[in-house]
This record gives sequence, C-alpha cells and structure tokens, in this order.
Amino acid sequence: MTVVRDVPKQLFIGGDWQDAESGRTLSVDDPATGEELCQVADASPADGRRAVEAAVAAQAAWAATAPRVRSEILRRAYDIIIARTEDLALLMTLEMGKPLAEARAEVAYAAEFFRWFSEEAVRVDGDMMTAPDGRNRLLVTRQPVGPCLLITPWNFPLAMGTRKIGPAIAAGCTIVLKPAPQTPLSSLALAEILTEAGLPAGVLNIVTTTDAAGVVEPLLRGGQIRKLSFTGSTQVGRILLAQCADTVIRTSMELGGNAPLIVFADADLDVAVEGTMVAKMRNMGESCCAANRIFVHTSVAEEFASRLAARMAALTVGPGTEPGTDVGPLIDNAGRSKAHDLVRDAVKRGATVLTGGELPEGPGCFYPPTVLTGIAPDSAIIDTEIFGPVAAIRTFETEDEAVAAANDTEFGLAAYLFTQNLDRALRVAERLESGMIGINTGLVSNPAAPFGGVKQSGLGREGGRVGIDEFLEYKYLAVPVGA
Ligand code: ADP
Repeated sequence: MTVVRDVPKQLFIGGDWQDAESGRTLSVDDPATGEELCQVADASPADGRRAVEAAVAAQAAWAATAPRVRSEILRRAYDIIIARTEDLALLMTLEMGKPLAEARAEVAYAAEFFRWFSEEAVRVDGDMMTAPDGRNRLLVTRQPVGPCLLITPWNFPLAMGTRKIGPAIAAGCTIVLKPAPQTPLSSLALAEILTEAGLPAGVLNIVTTTDAAGVVEPLLRGGQIRKLSFTGSTQVGRILLAQCADTVIRTSMELGGNAPLIVFADADLDVAVEGTMVAKMRNMGESCCAANRIFVHTSVAEEFASRLAARMAALTVGPGTEPGTDVGPLIDNAGRSKAHDLVRDAVKRGATVLTGGELPEGPGCFYPPTVLTGIAPDSAIIDTEIFGPVAAIRTFETEDEAVAAANDTEFGLAAYLFTQNLDRALRVAERLESGMIGINTGLVSNPAAPFGGVKQSGLGREGGRVGIDEFLEYKYLAVPVGA
C-alpha cells in the first residue's frame, strides 16, 4: 500500500527522523487480516530522554513566538489534513480497522482541533485590576506550562493526537508524543504535516515504543516534563498520576468510561434507536464514550430491544477498506476475547442473546454486533468497559431507579438520555454524575465543547474554550502605584 510505504517509520526527534538507538523496530499489524503492515522504530528509555532534551531545548524560543505565528501553523496543518483526507483515512483504517467512512469522519474531527486551536491561540487573555487596598495593581498574564508529554491510545489514532497537540502548540508548549504502539502511523504522518506547515524543529517529538512503562516513567521522574496529558485506561492513569505526584507534574487525564444510556417511556423510539446505534456502534464500540449500560423503561423495553436488534443484525461486518462495511475488526485478539468473555459471562448468568454473540471463523479480529437483554446484576458486563459492538440492555420502572443505576459506577465520562419531556431531560441530566450528557443524541464529541469526565473518568477537559487552559500557567505581577 502506497500510504503505508510513504509514511515515515522512524522516531522524530529535534526535527530529524532517526532510528531507535538500539536499532530495534516494532511491528504494526492490520487487524482485519492479522498481517504485518510495516515496522517502525521501537524506542528505548535513552531515545525517550533524547526526545525530552529536544523539547526542552526548543521551549524558550517556541514560547517567545508570536501567537499569530503559532496560529497560522495550526491553520496550515488543518488545510493540509483536509486536502489529504483520503490518504490519512486509509492509513488509519489499515492500522486500526475502522471502516473508511468512519476514518474520513475522524480525519475531519481531528483536523477541526487544529482549526479550533488556531483560533484560540490568539485569544489568550490576561487581567489587570486594582487591589482592594487601592494601591497595588494586579497584573495577571498567562504563560505556557512548558515541555509536555502527551500519551495517546489506539482507538482514535489521529484525533487523540490533534486534541492534545493543537492546544499545546497554541499555548506555546513543546511536546513529546508517545502514541499507542498499535497505531503509530497516523501520528508519524501528522508530524510530517506539521513540519510542512512550518512547525520549528524540536517543538514536536515522537517516540514510538513497545516499552511504554520503561520509556515514560524516567521522563516523568526526570524533572524536565512540566505537564502530562494522557488518554487511556483508568488503570494506567492511576499509575501515571502516582508517578506525577512525586515530581508535582500537572496532569490532564482522559480515562475510562462506563456510559449509561437511558430510554424513558416518553422517548421518541426512532430517535432513541438511532441514537443508541451511534452511541454503541461508532468505532465498533471502541470508544470511552460508548454506551456501555443501556437502561430502558419496562413499557417500551421489548419494542426498543427488537428494533435495536434488527438494526444491529443488518450491519455488514468486514474489513474497513471494503465499501459497504459498517463494522470493522476490533483492534486485536485480546480486545475481541474480552468482549466475547463478557457476553459469555452475561449469558451464563441468564441473559438472552437477540443477535450476535458467536465468534466468527477466519482471520482478523471480527466480532458480530450483539444485543443482550435480561442482564443479571452480578454480570461482569455491568461494570467493565466492553470496548466492542455489544449492547447490554436492562430495564427500569422509575426515574429515581434509572438515575441511581446509572450513577452506580466509579466512572463518569459520558451519559445519554432519551425523552421528549424537557423538564425530565434537564432534571435527569443534572443528577447524572457524568462530564458529558447527550440528550436525544448518541454523539457528544465536538471540538468546540469541553470533553472530559468526573469521578474516576479523569481530570481536566480537552477542546472547547477551556482546552488551552490545560497548557497555560497563570503568572501574577504585583505593582504598587505611588500616590
Ligand atoms: P488500552 O488498554 O486501551 O490500550 P492503555 O491505558 O493501556 O489503554 O494505553 C493507553 C496509552 O498508554 C498507550 O499509548 C499505551 O502505550 C500507554 N501506556 C500503557 N501502559 C503505560 C505505562 N505503564 N506508562 C505509560 N504509558 C503507558
């Protein structure tokens, strides 16, 4: 494939493409076939240190560039991404598996973070006020936090990168990016695009590695990184928070989810089924915002479940590169086994399979769209992030019962509710312990909105007006003014 051949395969440090010092490489595989696409450099801790040194060396000059200059780099990169949509989408489908139509949508979503933060780069404001004593003048200005470590997952290979890189560049921070080892190619392509857009050497550095723990920990303990922005599992997030505590590094954490989706008796069922399809099936269910627990009022439960099962059964499963594919493979065999084990556990405890639930024969990590009803409360699927195309439906009688069940989790990222009653929508939304709530929609992601969670789903927000704040520090100047 030309798109795979053309993308750089080395580490990107100080503006140069370099092999890992050890000469080691890691294999990038196509989840639709299980076959290797290519090899890319596999960094060791020494390579990580060189990347941080490059970021540190570039920090002062980068912070001193005019906001307009940083803004225009992001804007040019936005234009280049859009112009290369087809190549970037194909690259993403090959390394990650999602259908091409979804990959194209992700390219647009990813690019939008650059356009949004190109606009925000020139809108960083400060403050000046007279102190209550009438004498001091208080000047408040904002500065980049400093060199950042950005760690991204494999499920949205391009957008998770731009959502962090965009605000870091806009704020004037330099960057070491560590993408997930399953999907490094989209990030490497992004580095090429940013270079073409005029990003100076050393501002963005990329280390691809199979030794995430070994490379990252010394960087967090080394005293030069001032900020960690991480998207991944809560389990790894906790480890990284502990490491950051020792050197008091600022963090933004986008962690796991266990999104409830509530369908009330007064919902428009067409809207609810459509919204559930999006909330469940976007990205094959491999999203931290995916509807993980579906609660339906008993009076509409049977109709909702049979309509959803009919929609799910009609989806075409296959390689993401084939036209007509609705559902691509899961990322790897471990991901597929996890989804299947959750289904088997639920069935063992009494759940009914309306569609799917069987492991297909043949190569690739495919799993069929699956709908389960009658989930017993002790089933593992209730408090495990499924990360696959499995809809688990339970029923409820009262609004209080639905809210209590929805909040009965350590997570609090996304939630969805379907009702035609505005009063109820606002009342329930206020009671749900989630950072983001879709009301009569299954999609909450939007570059202009603050994305993030409460409880153990994370700290901080990405995107929106507040997204750049995560990369800025306040500095206050006290100025006494004489009489
Ligand atoms: P997932 O299970 O979805 O792969 P992870 O939290 O394991 O989620 O991975 C998210 C990102 O964190 C990836 O880039 C991965 O390489 C990285 N990662 C995993 N473990 C560690 C670790 N101990 N230290 C630093 N980064 C890690």
